[in-house]
Amino acid sequence: MSELQPHRARKRFGQNFLHDAGVIHRILGAIHPKEGERLLEIGPGQGALTEGLVGSKARLDVIELDKDLIPLLKLKFGLLPNFNLHQGDAMKFDFTTLDAGSHELRVVGNLPYNISTPLIFHLLAHAHLIRDMHFMLQKEVVERLAAVPGGGDWGRLSIMVQYHCRVEYLFHVGPGAFNPPPKVDSAIVRLVPHETLPHPAKDPALLERVVREAFNQRRKTLRNTLKALMTADDIAAVDVDGSLRPEQLDIAAFVRLADRLAEKTVDTSKPSSNG
Ligand code: SAM
Repeated sequence: MSELQPHRARKRFGQNFLHDAGVIHRILGAIHPKEGERLLEIGPGQGALTEGLVGSKARLDVIELDKDLIPLLKLKFGLLPNFNLHQGDAMKFDFTTLDAGSHELRVVGNLPYNISTPLIFHLLAHAHLIRDMHFMLQKEVVERLAAVPGGGDWGRLSIMVQYHCRVEYLFHVGPGAFNPPPKVDSAIVRLVPHETLPHPAKDPALLERVVREAFNQRRKTLRNTLKALMTADDIAAVDVDGSLRPEQLDIAAFVRLADRLAEKTVDTSKPSSNG
């Protein structure tokens, strides 16, 4: 094989490589990987975090999309018995093929910012396999993930992620920690999937629908934004004040609305099933 060419960061893969040793050390300290654990790194890039992860002797699987980075990753880590490289798109990766036990996988990634939200939703579909997730994300996204009801950051992302996980904002990372530096500030977040959901919805797809509909027009009252889904009486019946704005409701209230909709959906399907 010819000598490796220096890699030029690609914008379309969201490549901003970490080079600040202090920040890398702090992230690894927050993850604190241990021998025998199961780690999954998304987007290892040139291996800034990979080195510390694999050095812990945990079993590490990595998924990297950019084919040009594969020879470098193989050269650096390919001979280590606890390292497994998958070339491909994390958005299409079937996490069940990793053969991890219940709540075993520890997922890590300095994620490409353009796919971070859909990727988190893709991972949440396998929340039962995941022990925790540590991600570097755009700071505003971390603020939305960790938000509490009542403020401008509280919305669909906060609710759907906190439905599944406990969320912790860990620390801020400035653009200078990366090469090339991104135009935005970043932050590290920890997501820990609940072993038992605190507010399980009868039908999570309906929760998703109610939340999406409610926040489509976040300045309006619930009575107005939910008009297409339920009546003012339905809202009052589950002890929710229809004159509030969606950002004033906590997860438990959204679940009560979704469960009301679930009951109605069952009711209205009865006549049509009889013809
Ligand atoms: N972890 C490295 C670091 O901290 O320096 C690289 C981080 S860089 C922000 C994001 C990495 O994710 C890049 O290596 C990029 O090629 C990779 N990537 C982008 N889209 C991906 C996808 N859909 N699946 C897997 N990896 C992806």
